[in-house]
Amino acid sequence: MKYDYLIVGAGLYGAVFAHEAKKAGKSVLVIDKRPNIAGNVYTKEVEGINVHVYGAHIFHTNSKTVWDYVTQFAEFNRFTNSPVANYKGELYSLPFNMYTFNKMWGVVTPEEASAKISEQRKEITGEPQNLEEQAISLVGRDIYEKLIKGYTEKQWGRDCKDLPAFIIKRLPVRLTFDNNYFNALYQGIPTGGYTSMVANMLEGIEVRLNTDYFANKKELDALAEKVVYTGAIDAYFDFRLGTLEYRSVRFETELLDIPNFQGNAAVNYTDRETPWTRIIEHKWFEFGKDKNGTDLPKTVISREYSSEWKAGDEPYYPVNDEKNGALYAKYRELAKKETNVIFGGRLGEYKYYDMDAVIAVALEMCQKELS
Ligand code: UDP
Repeated sequence: MKYDYLIVGAGLYGAVFAHEAKKAGKSVLVIDKRPNIAGNVYTKEVEGINVHVYGAHIFHTNSKTVWDYVTQFAEFNRFTNSPVANYKGELYSLPFNMYTFNKMWGVVTPEEASAKISEQRKEITGEPQNLEEQAISLVGRDIYEKLIKGYTEKQWGRDCKDLPAFIIKRLPVRLTFDNNYFNALYQGIPTGGYTSMVANMLEGIEVRLNTDYFANKKELDALAEKVVYTGAIDAYFDFRLGTLEYRSVRFETELLDIPNFQGNAAVNYTDRETPWTRIIEHKWFEFGKDKNGTDLPKTVISREYSSEWKAGDEPYYPVNDEKNGALYAKYRELAKKETNVIFGGRLGEYKYYDMDAVIAVALEMCQKELS
C-alpha cells in the first residue's frame, strides 16, 4: 500500500485529519471531486473581494484549543457577525436583543422588554415540543411571526411545528444592547480567505482534485490502509437504506459597480414572500478593504435560496428531525462494520456542526486514531 490514509474530501474535517496524520509521520492522499480544496468554506477572490462561494462562514468558538489550532494556519480579523433582519422593509437587529425589542415594541428598559416577552410566552405551557413553541417561549409571538417563522420555513422548507426545537436555540436572546450574533469568546474571518487557511493545513500533502471517489472506489481504496470519508454517509452506502434528507442552497452572485449595496455582510429577509433567505455582501467580512487596506470600489453580493436536496445537488444542511435521525442510526450501524473507514464531518456524521465543532471532532478522532 502506498498510503496510510486516503482522505475523501478536502474540507475542514479532511484537512485537519490530513495535517495531523502527516505530522504523526503517516503518509496521506487527499482527494476531492471538486476542482478546489476547502469544501464549503472555499473562498475565491473576485475584484479583490474574498467571496464565500458556498455561503457565509464566520468562524467562532468558545474553545481555546480550537482557536489556537486554527490561528496556526491563518491570521483572523476582528469581524463580528451582526446580521440585520429585513421584514417587509422594516429593519431589526439580530440576534434578539434590546435593539430588536425596542424596534418591535418601543420598550426602552430590559424590565419592559422582559415583561413583554413574559406576557407573550404564556401561550406555551410545558416543555416546547417543536421549533415554533421553542421560539415563542424564548421571544414571544411578535418576534416569532416577523423574524423567525418566514425565514425558518424558507430555510428548511418545513413548517416550524415540524422542526426540532434545538435549531432556534442556536440564537442568543439578550436583554442587553449587544448585536453580536454569537456567544463566543473568539470570532473572526481568516485574513485572505478560508482557502489559503486550508491550503496551509494541507501544505506538503498530496491532493488530487477533480477526483470522484465513487467513480474509482476500488482503485482508490487499494492505495491506502484506511479511508477517512467526509462525504454523505448515505451516498457511501449507495443509498441502500433510503436517502437521508438534506437542505441545499443555491446562490445568485452578482458583481456590482457600486461600493456599498446593503452596508452589512448579511441581511436576512425574514418574510415568507421574498424568495431568498438572505443576501450576503462579501466585502464586509473584511471591512470593505483589499489586502493592502484600500477601499474596494465594487461589491459582490449573493442572494441565497434554499431548496430540498435532490440527487446531483450539493448537500449543505442535514435535516436533524426524528425520521432522519432514525435512518441515520441505521447507516451508523452499517458504518461501524466498515472497520477500515472513518466517517467524519457534517455529511459523514449527518450533524449540523459549526466549523469549530468539526475541527474539535476531527482533532478528537486524530487523537484516537493516530496516537
Ligand atoms: N433564524 C431565524 N431568523 C433569522 C436567522 C435565523 O429564525 O433571521 C433561525 C432559523 O430557524 C435558522 C436558525 O435560526 O434555521 C439558525 O440560523 P443561522 O443563521 O445560525 O444558520 P446558518 O445557516 O448560518 O447555519
